[in-house]
Amino acid sequence: MNAPYRAEKRRYDYLIVGAGFAGSVLAERLASQHGARVLLIDRRPHIGGNAYDEPNEAGILYHKYGPHIFHTNSEQVVDYLSQFTEWRPYEHRVRALVRGKLVPIPINRTTLNKLFDLDLQTDEQAADYLASRAEPVDEIRTSEDVVINAVGQELYELFFRGYTRKQWGLDPSELDKQVTSRIPTRTNTDDRYFSDTFQAMPLNGYTAMFEKMVDNPLIEVRTGVDFRDVRDEVDADHIIYTGPIDEYFGFRFGKLPYRSLKFDHQTLDQEQFQEVAVVNYPSEDVPFTRISEYKHLTGQEAPVTTVTYEYPSAEGDPYYPIPRPENQALFKRYEALADATDNVTFVGRLATYRYYNMDQIVGQALATFRRIDDKRRAEQPTAVAAE
Ligand code: FAD
Ligand code: UDP
Repeated sequence: MNAPYRAEKRRYDYLIVGAGFAGSVLAERLASQHGARVLLIDRRPHIGGNAYDEPNEAGILYHKYGPHIFHTNSEQVVDYLSQFTEWRPYEHRVRALVRGKLVPIPINRTTLNKLFDLDLQTDEQAADYLASRAEPVDEIRTSEDVVINAVGQELYELFFRGYTRKQWGLDPSELDKQVTSRIPTRTNTDDRYFSDTFQAMPLNGYTAMFEKMVDNPLIEVRTGVDFRDVRDEVDADHIIYTGPIDEYFGFRFGKLPYRSLKFDHQTLDQEQFQEVAVVNYPSEDVPFTRISEYKHLTGQEAPVTTVTYEYPSAEGDPYYPIPRPENQALFKRYEALADATDNVTFVGRLATYRYYNMDQIVGQALATFRRIDDKRRAEQPTAVAAE
């Protein structure tokens, strides 16, 4: 058991709460660029946040909090992270089990041909076919509208309705359009899950990348430490907080909803379990949403394999902010409090209540650093110029 952290007489420039992407990037920037003394804490027993990976007992590198695939269009983010890792080229492919068939998701021409026994040969034929099924929606507001508008009712029900109800505990009609807008519809046979210009996995895993990022004598890392237990004890000029924003303010306006997941990790005595890294199970008759097999992501070779079943849940660690107007309105109230709180910066997926991917969080953290840097330059023009 971790004893509560008692700050000795050390002073820090920054206390950073949360050692995921948001907290670790800021710790790295502030220490390496400003020479700041940073205390980086996380209540989990490790760094890396949700991207944490580790070898299990069988030696298979798996992701403790479900599969994390890196993809981005931002050269700045790639250049930044490339200081701490090499990359393994990897293009993510996902299949969905629908009507007993494993078909590509996002829906593409192959999906249509396989599912409906068609022989669509060109993009144009696929576009015409989808247009014949699509049910145009005048004003696209919800996650249901997005899909119905693009592919019509039947494909919506087969691929999206059940999966979304399971994943979010809400019907797609109750969720902001941004949720299902993440998934394109294609008329070609491109079966990659992402279309980004850069798609790759950190060569030795995420945790190794994080370890390099925070490897600086100015950064003191303490895991197994909750902000709640040390907030009055640590002597720091600034706080950077990457945990849930409602929790920071003692839930004073009520709880902000976050969706959670239960992960069932299994190691199987076979070389391969499924043909691609992730298979989605959109049917509501199946309690989990997807099964992921890590060896596809990492390229690891072994006679056994590790897979993870994901069971969405209302209870548990907060993983997903839930994008819908009433939640956004509640977040805005907390955000107003945050804006009025001096010397605390709120950054990251939980603190800014944004359904962001890893690269977007890195981008957000780098932008936060630039703002801190600009402010510092404005306040100390001569000191900075003399450095
Ligand atoms: P987090 O990683 O959540 O880090 C916040 C940290 O703060 C946590 O470690 C937490 O323990 C700590 N903390 C909170 N409160 C306290 C406190 N009071 N005291 C101390 N510590 C505290 N993104 C992609 O780009 N590609 C993917 O394939 C992908 N897959 C995902 C799959 C799943 C199942 C999930 C849940 C997310 C996925 N994401 C993916 C999103 C990705 O995980 C996030 O964008 C990213 O991890 C957010 O980083 P963060 O630093 O904001 O938050
Ligand atoms: N989705 C779906 N069926 C699928 C894949 C995705 O209904 O087969 C919906 C679901 O609501 C999901 C959203 O699209 O939450 C976004 O999917 P994505 O894979 O981007 O979610 P992530 O797991 O990355 O958060």
